Amino acid sequence: MIDNISQSVLNIGTLGHIDHGKTSLVKALTHQWTDRHSESLKRNMTIKLGYADMVIRKCSKCEGAAAYTTEENCGKCGGKAEPLIRVSILDAPGHETLMATAISEANIINAILFVIAANEICPMQQTREHLMIINLLGIKNVIIVQSKVDIVGKQKALENFRQIKNFIKGSVIENAPILPVMTNHNINIDILLEMIVNLPRPDPKPEADPFMYIARSFDVNKPGIDASKIVGGIIGGTLTRGTLKVGDQIEIRPGINMGQGSKKEVYVPVTTVIEGIHNGSGQLEFARAGGLIGLSTEIDPAFTKADGLVGNIAGKPGRLPEAVSNMAIKYHKLKRDDIPERAFTPGEAIILSVGTATVIGYVKKAKRDNLEVELKRPVIAEKGTKMAIMKNLAQRWRLTGYGIYN
Ligand code: ZN
Repeated sequence: MIDNISQSVLNIGTLGHIDHGKTSLVKALTHQWTDRHSESLKRNMTIKLGYADMVIRKCSKCEGAAAYTTEENCGKCGGKAEPLIRVSILDAPGHETLMATAISEANIINAILFVIAANEICPMQQTREHLMIINLLGIKNVIIVQSKVDIVGKQKALENFRQIKNFIKGSVIENAPILPVMTNHNINIDILLEMIVNLPRPDPKPEADPFMYIARSFDVNKPGIDASKIVGGIIGGTLTRGTLKVGDQIEIRPGINMGQGSKKEVYVPVTTVIEGIHNGSGQLEFARAGGLIGLSTEIDPAFTKADGLVGNIAGKPGRLPEAVSNMAIKYHKLKRDDIPERAFTPGEAIILSVGTATVIGYVKKAKRDNLEVELKRPVIAEKGTKMAIMKNLAQRWRLTGYGIYN
C-alpha cells in the first residue's frame, strides 16, 4: 500500500555557503552523509545528487516539539515514537553544482533548508547567490537554519539573526522562520523536525501519466558472473507525478545512443518491464511521486552500467513528450559579482542542465533574452521546464543564469 512512511512525501533541498554546516545538518537529521560524491562538476559537469532519507516520528505521550525524533524511541521519555512521514534530503557538492542542481531540480524539490552560519557576516557571497536563486525560482517553503550558534555566543548570534532578517527583507522568503540549531549538541533539531512535518506537501498526482527523472543507473552483476544468472539493469530516480507498479511496462526516453562509435548520435527509446521497486525502506509494490526509487528492469545491464541512462525520463509507453534537439529558451541572467557579463555569441557552446540531463548546446541565435539552442544530444523537456545554463568563461564553466523552455 502507498503510505507516508514507505516512500518520501517531501523532497527537501539544501542551500547554504560552503562551510556553513550544511553537511553536518543533514548528518544530524538523517545520520547519513550526503557529501560522498566527488567534485564531479570539474570532471564532466554531470550533476550527482546526494539523497538521504529520514523517517520523522512522534511520541504520543510527550507534548510539543520534544516529541519529534528520527529515533525509534522518544528522546524525552524513552517511549516508542510512532512514524509520521518519510522525507528525502537532497544535497549536491560544490557551489556551482549546488546552484545548478537547485535550478534544474526545481520541479523535484518541494522545500529548502537554507543554512546560514552565525559566525560570519550575513550575507556572504554564496549566501547572497542562493537567496537570488530562491527568489528567481519563487520557492516559498524555506526554513532558514542558523548554524554554528554554539561557537559565537548569544550576543553574536542575536546580531547575526538581525543581519539575516535584514538580508531576507523584501524577498520571497521574508517571513521564513529562522531557527538556530546546534547540530553537535542536537539542540533544536526536534523543532526543525516539527517544522518539516508541518511544511505543505505536494500533490503526488497518482492518476497522472508517470514522469520519472533518471538520476542514476547501474549494473549489479559481478564481473565474470554465469550468463544465466545475469539480472537486468537498475535505474534510480524520482517520480514527479503518477504511479508505477511492479509488472508495469515503461518506456525510457530519449533512450540509448545506437550511433556509438560513429559521429552521429541516434537515440532510440527503450521499452522494458519493472521487475522490482526499491527505496531506502525496502521493496515496494507501488511507487508514487517523492523520494528516490530504484527500478529493476529487463534492460541489458551494459546500457545501465556507470550511469549510462542518467538524464533519461521513464514513463508509460507512448505517453512521454517527444525528445527535442532544438530549443527556444527564455534566458534569465543571474547577478554574480565575480562573473563578467558577456552576451551570447552565435555558435557559442553552453552547458544546459535539464532535469537530470546535462548536455552541451550551441547557440544558434541570441536576441536579447531569447535563445535558440541546438543540443548535442536530445532531451525530454516539457514547456516551462527550468534549466541551469553555464557559459565557458576564462576556461571555466560557470553558472550564469537559467532558462525556461518555451
Ligand atoms: Zn516521549
